[in-house]
Amino acid sequence: MNLAATEELARLGHLYPAVILHGRKAEDRQAAALRLARTLLCEAERSARPCGSCKHCSRIVWPSAKSDAFHADFRVLERDLKTSTSVAATKAFLQDAQVAPFEARGQVFVLASAESLTGGAANALLKTLEEPHISAPRHFLLLSPSQFDLLATVRSRSLAVFLGVSEAEFTEEMEALAESFAVCVRGFMSSGSILQLLAGADVLSRVSSWKDPRDATAWSQAAAIARRCCDLVESRGSRGLLNLAEQMLGGWQSRVRGIQAQRILEAMVVEALAPLAPKGETRDIRLVRSVNGG
Ligand SMILES: [Zn+2]
Repeated sequence: MNLAATEELARLGHLYPAVILHGRKAEDRQAAALRLARTLLCEAERSARPCGSCKHCSRIVWPSAKSDAFHADFRVLERDLKTSTSVAATKAFLQDAQVAPFEARGQVFVLASAESLTGGAANALLKTLEEPHISAPRHFLLLSPSQFDLLATVRSRSLAVFLGVSEAEFTEEMEALAESFAVCVRGFMSSGSILQLLAGADVLSRVSSWKDPRDATAWSQAAAIARRCCDLVESRGSRGLLNLAEQMLGGWQSRVRGIQAQRILEAMVVEALAPLAPKGETRDIRLVRSVNGG
């Protein structure tokens, strides 16, 4: 699930009560939480949410010493200890979730470093998630570098929204893979041979471990490589590569349905990049059909 789709659920009033915002940097996760909170509490008409200027939107800001803006129905719990978020602080925070909203149609509670919840704190959160809300929608946004830093019991009750890999995670190894991938894409753009695309899919499959079918990390790394490749091939390749990157971010959903990662990568690469063949002609199509059993 990506952020845009999650915002749409929020507009329709169909958002899960607990959402994990993971990936990218802490500031990106905070920005995503603010955007989602505004979408949930904004008073503009649905399609215009978040408007950014109503009495709710304008006061939903990240707490800081510099600003005295405050919204009673938007709460943030920051890590209170050096390396963890304590049980006491978490319980006190969750107490506020037991009362009805003060001024908005719902409430939003943000756990800024959900990965740092102690076992007791995570259990207190779970207990709250299991209770039905009292009168108005109540949302919890759990911010964490990776969803896998959270307890499985918390994950299973939450919608995980992956914001992407942080730029700092674009390693030298990925750079080398991007260069190999670019060689395949260039080869296809000049020859039209599908074999080049299959070789490209094979390069992408080397990004990291594909063991856990629910893990979005390998997909986001493969997507980052496709995006990087835009700088390495002639510009007419950019559109297909960006489409490919977008598709791959959701690749884990097909894997959860039991399809092998390699097959998904091949299908996505061929579909997104086939239009880049010289004069739109592709060779070896029959070969691909037999490889994919079609
Ligand atoms: Zn608004």
